[in-house]
Amino acid sequence: MRVHGDKILRRRAKYRKKKRYTSYKKELVEDFQNMCGYCGKDFNYMRCEHQIDHLIPVDACKKFKQENMISEYSNLVYSCRVCNRNKWNDWPLDNINDIHDGQKGYIDPATEEYDTHLKRNSNGEIIPLTSLGNYMYDIFKFEYRLTSLIWKATCIKKEIEILKKKIDKLEGEERTEYLEKFYLFQTQFDNMTNILKEKRELI
Ligand SMILES: [Zn+2]
Repeated sequence: MRVHGDKILRRRAKYRKKKRYTSYKKELVEDFQNMCGYCGKDFNYMRCEHQIDHLIPVDACKKFKQENMISEYSNLVYSCRVCNRNKWNDWPLDNINDIHDGQKGYIDPATEEYDTHLKRNSNGEIIPLTSLGNYMYDIFKFEYRLTSLIWKATCIKKEIEILKKKIDKLEGEERTEYLEKFYLFQTQFDNMTNILKEKRELI
């Protein structure tokens, strides 16, 4: 399974250049399909703070005198608060000609290449596939984060949305049967979100 499930995140090719990176929020929400690029947390289903991360961090852009990269759209990643904070100013390379050296650094999550370094196991947990994937896995602290629980809660929430639409069209016994399923899923989802709320730093 992919980190982003069935969503394909890609930045648009054409956009109006903006001076401030924060002005790209609308484009990022659309291009990242309202999902964290790094951990694949779907903000359509999971309430969580979202931020704009710099693939090459601001400090590295300044250090290597490429300040233009700070507001360059291709350097921006829509990210959850925890991923953004874990990555923060990390830059393991001594230049910014590339974003990794094959062992250390980052892969742009808005590319097909991301899937070759990180994926989800059948439990929904994010796992590394390469040494570069392992570098990112460590930086984002995926080992300690509740990536499996978030994935499962999202899957249940999607089922709930489907059930809601179905129930509206049903009557009689069939409606009762689906309503029971709906309440069961809703209880499971509420239990999961209660755990997630208590462990905000690990989501
Ligand atoms: Zn994230």
